Amino acid sequence: MAKKVSMGLSKSLLLKGFQCPKALWLTKRPPEFVLPERPDLEAKFRAGTEVGILAQQLYPGGVEVPYEGLTVPAQLAKTKELIEQGADVIYEASFSFSAIFVKVDLLVRDGDQWQIHEVKMGTSVKDVNLDDVAIQHYVLNGCGLSISKSFLVHIDNSYVRQGEIDVHQLFHSEEVTTQVKVRLQHIPDGVRELRETLRQLNEPDVDIGPHCTDPFECDFIPYCWQHIPANSVFDLRGRGVNKFDLYRRGVVTFDEIPLDQLNAKQRQQVEATLHQQDTVHAEGVQAFLDSLWYPLYHLDFETFSAPIPKFDGTRPYQQVPFQYSIHAQQVAGGDAQHFEYLAPPNVDPRRELAEQLLAVIPEDACILTYNQSFEKGVLRELAKQFPDLADALQQRIANIRDLMEPFRKRDLYRWQMQGSYSIKEVLPAMVPELNYKELTIADGSAAMQAYHTMCAMELGEELDQLRRDLLRYCEMDTWAMVKVLEALHANIITQ
Ligand code: SF4
Repeated sequence: MAKKVSMGLSKSLLLKGFQCPKALWLTKRPPEFVLPERPDLEAKFRAGTEVGILAQQLYPGGVEVPYEGLTVPAQLAKTKELIEQGADVIYEASFSFSAIFVKVDLLVRDGDQWQIHEVKMGTSVKDVNLDDVAIQHYVLNGCGLSISKSFLVHIDNSYVRQGEIDVHQLFHSEEVTTQVKVRLQHIPDGVRELRETLRQLNEPDVDIGPHCTDPFECDFIPYCWQHIPANSVFDLRGRGVNKFDLYRRGVVTFDEIPLDQLNAKQRQQVEATLHQQDTVHAEGVQAFLDSLWYPLYHLDFETFSAPIPKFDGTRPYQQVPFQYSIHAQQVAGGDAQHFEYLAPPNVDPRRELAEQLLAVIPEDACILTYNQSFEKGVLRELAKQFPDLADALQQRIANIRDLMEPFRKRDLYRWQMQGSYSIKEVLPAMVPELNYKELTIADGSAAMQAYHTMCAMELGEELDQLRRDLLRYCEMDTWAMVKVLEALHANIITQ
């Protein structure tokens, strides 16, 4: 007998269903398919909770209805009790109507009505946020509360921290009452349709589409996209092609794509893949190599960012450097000497990092980065923060060259690069023996997460191990650049 599925819904389930009814159905009836873990979601959830708690200070003196430690009926009862007792501000107030459960970040009494304040860690109001508030409005109305106004409270990324966080500057409250009322009209029908979908015993017939990533990346992508082979229209890089349009017309694999619909770079990607062809424009590569000089310092930063700025003088989501790796070569193809810096946890790393970097890299050295705009941006922020170091930092910025350049221009293209010039694709194509597979930390976002974890850790072996992992990862980034540069030289010699 088919398992009975609960018709109970929450705000996040409804939003998931509005994005794709099949996603809601699959959440309630999980397929026999192992979905990969999403560690990024856990980190986002933690950051969101921190932001939500801080935003409570916008309306101090409220009472919280906690999620942890209370059953749903207890949360509903506690909210009812607080309202009856005359509470003016309730954090995480809980309501249920028509088997839809919602929690309101900040519920503020407004005469005999109420205001809804929904806190988001983004920096602007998005359509999905309006739906989010409309669902709350619908449920609260159903519970007999009259809503006077609705607000979306989001991060103002022009705020610069000085001392204690000023919540009135960090957050921007935008009144969205009118937009929410428009969306509110569609909620009852939307809920009814989703419940009809949920009652179906068979998986809804919804094909893949732009809705798989908009507004959120759907958890079920690995399941629903299983039929898409490698080297499909979805692997085409660059703009100008409507990939879903081709897919719907039955054009899926590279050999089915009409080449006249592609731009020159996409055509090169497809043809190079189909015929396993590489391209080298020796003159372009040589011009790039001629633009470098020695000593040459390969440089890579790791940075973290957070919605709540951690240190004075930083903004929300500012990329704050906490680590660098440098490999220095005195002559082309010569031995590479390694230098590194990794900040201790919870200490503003910028001054020390900048001073050490300036001490390591001579004024007249060539500095090689991969994707120079990132490293230049970090150095510019440091120059702005420390005027006494600004000239020296600007000098280093002027000496930066970009190893990505010959790949971005396709002066050297290997078919395995799949149309990309990101180091993730370039490295295995240029230096197949080198990879990040053995490393515990294997990409920039994992490194950023590791920094946040490090700041929450006690001193001890676990912290030491994490620091070793971070150092190994960042060292690999600049060592990879040494090897890619070596491979570029070798390609010219063999031409
Ligand atoms: S992957 Fe796409 S089609 Fe599948 S459930 Fe998610 S949104 Fe729907």
